Amino acid sequence: NRQLVLATRPKGAPTRDTLTLKETTIPTAGADQMLLRTEFLSLDPYMRGRMSDAPSYAPPVEIGGVMVGGTVAQVITSNVDGFAEGDFVLSFNGWQDYALSDGTGVTNLGKTPDHPSWALGILGMPGFTAWAGLTRIGEPKAGETIVVAAATGPVGATVGQIGKLLGCRVVGIAGGRDKCAYAVNELGFDACIDHKADDFADQLGKATPNGIDVYYENVGGKVLDAVIPLLNPNARVPVCGLISQYNATALPNGPDRMNWLMGQILRKKVKVQGFIIFDDFGHLYPEFAKEMSAWIETGKIKYREEIIDGLENAPEAFVGLLNGENFGKRVIRVGNK
Ligand code: NDP
Repeated sequence: NRQLVLATRPKGAPTRDTLTLKETTIPTAGADQMLLRTEFLSLDPYMRGRMSDAPSYAPPVEIGGVMVGGTVAQVITSNVDGFAEGDFVLSFNGWQDYALSDGTGVTNLGKTPDHPSWALGILGMPGFTAWAGLTRIGEPKAGETIVVAAATGPVGATVGQIGKLLGCRVVGIAGGRDKCAYAVNELGFDACIDHKADDFADQLGKATPNGIDVYYENVGGKVLDAVIPLLNPNARVPVCGLISQYNATALPNGPDRMNWLMGQILRKKVKVQGFIIFDDFGHLYPEFAKEMSAWIETGKIKYREEIIDGLENAPEAFVGLLNGENFGKRVIRVGNK
């Protein structure tokens, strides 16, 4: 049973010393337990927060503890009602080949789900995050302009596509020409701007001639800087993530612009609301699942996955995710023997 455990708390970006691969014996299911074999491990930006012991909405992984993570697994042996050998499940095994579970928080996906790994993306936490943050906090109305960065990732791509279904103008922001072309040509965004371009802020202004009504915040940093002056009166800003800051060790230099920002929020009457998906919107999950499944079945929402083989490759793949090396939802096919 291979396990990736937290060896040190990273300062800045995680390195190859952050996690170590450990071999342990495969556990045996006791009474009221089942043994799960991890098939797919989700890589998500929030995992950077769990490596750190800075105060957060969830406790950090302990040093020496198995790194946490959402997984799709198969039931190997079961003493838990409602779960039988061979069932696929959505579980929270973490970064390891095998885990025991008593069934708490585990969802049975059946013996032959069409796309088991999608439960980690479009049909799971990131898809739900996009849907709830946009519709419940962003509250877009037809004809309004939505801007979203990390536009080809599982959250951003879904935000933009839902925005189009609701009749909005959608402008994405992504890293590089290929991602931007994909957002426009495949996902149907009206425009997509490369945040690495020197004239990024100018281009964003030109792509939003009627201003910005909903800024779905995924990244912070210079994207946020460019967006704030373009916000319309009564704009809404669901604060979902700030990935440009996750590896930061200090605040950026420069004049203190806190009061300028608050002035913008005040004068434009902007609603800025942070959220943690299951804390705030867990009760809406069934409604999301129903609506999203229908959109996928009818081809209204597209989904792009990037599958990387081998649990041993997860640490490097995770560092790459924070840097924008992923193109679509990054999932590890664990490949245990
Ligand atoms: P993605 O797969 O989109 O991966 C992150 C992307 O962020 C990268 O691919 C990269 O895309 C972009 N990025 C990284 N650094 C920067 C930077 N400095 N400036 C601009 N963009 C950058 O991730 P997810 O879709 O899974 O998550 C998106 C956001 O949603 C994250 O911030 C995450 O923490 C947050 N989240 C929040 C939840 C909540 O409950 N609040 C739940 C789930 C996710 P590119 O190359 O295009 O720049």
